[in-house]
Amino acid sequence: MPLDHSDQKLIAPTREAAEAALRAFAPRMGKRYTNGRNYDRGPGLHGDVSMLSPYLRRRLLLEQDAIEIAVREHGAEAAEKFIQEVIWRGYFKGWMERRPIVWDQYREGLIRDLAAVDRDRGLRRRVAAAEAGQTGLDCFDSWAEELVDTGYLHNYARMWFASIWIFTLELPWRLGADFFFRHLLDGDPASNTLGWRWVAGLHTRGKPYHAQAWNIAKFTENRFNPRPAELAEVVEGLESEEPEGLPNVTPLRTLPVPNPDRPTAFLMTEEDCRLEDFDLSALNFVGYATLSASHLRSPLPVSSLVEEFEDGALRDTASRIAPDATGLRAGVPTDLSRWASRLGATQIATPYIPTGPLRDWMIEAKRDLEEAGIDLVEWRRDWDSAIWPYATAGFFKVKKQIPAILQKTGLL
Ligand SMILES: Cc1cc2nc3c(=O)[nH]c(=O)nc-3n(C[C@H](O)[C@H](O)[C@H](O)COP(=O)(O)OP(=O)(O)OC[C@H]3O[C@@H](n4cnc5c(N)ncnc54)[C@H](O)[C@@H]3O)c2cc1C
Repeated sequence: MPLDHSDQKLIAPTREAAEAALRAFAPRMGKRYTNGRNYDRGPGLHGDVSMLSPYLRRRLLLEQDAIEIAVREHGAEAAEKFIQEVIWRGYFKGWMERRPIVWDQYREGLIRDLAAVDRDRGLRRRVAAAEAGQTGLDCFDSWAEELVDTGYLHNYARMWFASIWIFTLELPWRLGADFFFRHLLDGDPASNTLGWRWVAGLHTRGKPYHAQAWNIAKFTENRFNPRPAELAEVVEGLESEEPEGLPNVTPLRTLPVPNPDRPTAFLMTEEDCRLEDFDLSALNFVGYATLSASHLRSPLPVSSLVEEFEDGALRDTASRIAPDATGLRAGVPTDLSRWASRLGATQIATPYIPTGPLRDWMIEAKRDLEEAGIDLVEWRRDWDSAIWPYATAGFFKVKKQIPAILQKTGLL
């Protein structure tokens, strides 16, 4: 079960619970975060980090809200580390928008890796043992269990886990990324795929992340004490798997403007659950639906915790916008045009759908929409537009722009 760190309550997938969690963490966003954020104290004890990621990922809580309260309570300098971490999220999202082919290659590679698992009994056994937390390596096994039981892992645990998966257990990195994506409540196509690529030395080329025994002992306060020989002692990044290097940066998608005269169907997805921020009064709405899509994260079954969280978040969103909204599930892509046609809509409006499984599905659905004369219109938040133009290389380029980004978005 996903636990709240302070009193082990279940995390509720609502805007109200998100805002309560934000207020509760606000006093810890300054010095305490700077000093304590690297410590993985274990399930139920992650009090030095916010655990806001399942909310931020779905925009039940906005990145701006988190930064605004951090600046208000502590000042931009004392809250610098927290602000930077929140901006990492936008950086990774923007980076993936600028190189969507990296997502396509991940998905294609994953299909090949899963086929190899089907063919190779030894590989199948090793992957199953890793996912079940039965490798015999205490720290790794405990993190696998925590991930499956709670849908959360501390950032350091994610780094150590991924590094051990790739370099000690020598398992294909995409299978590990898929295991995370199936279980993380905050599972995000950009942060997860690029987090794994970063550990593998594919993002910051030539700098793989090396999980070392002393580092694990120190930042788990000796909860885990692996012997150095139990972990890969030398790690070599996987750059040779991609000899052509990183693909070129592409322009951001241009978005058609919604036409106020057309009968419009409104679609709510977990990509943005704060719809009341948008003034849509000029549009002519003829119907509303929620679209659940968590099951698209992987060809394998996705954790029920993830599906339940998405389901709750969509119900909460609908309750604030259109309580009688139809509940759709992203199954056969033609279902979308059928629903919109039944309403007599010639336009579907929805907040921006970033690169990832839902966008892949939408690309398929769009073919039928076009045939039925229905346009899909999306819009981007100013927050994303402020960060994404800089997300073309390493994080440093975005980091340098943080004061300008905060000024532009009214936070400084
Ligand atoms: C291999 C790997 C996979 C990851 N997969 C995901 C994922 O699927 N979804 C996801 O949201 N994050 C992912 N992360 C990033 C990071 O681990 C989590 O965002 C963070 O641990 C969430 O916990 P928190 O809310 O307590 O973080 P806090 O430390 O409290 O940080 C506050 C917020 O900043 C953002 N943030 C912090 N660190 C990062 C980071 N390195 N990258 C992007 N955003 C960050 C998150 O939105 C987080 O909620 C991954 C990292 C690694 C190394």
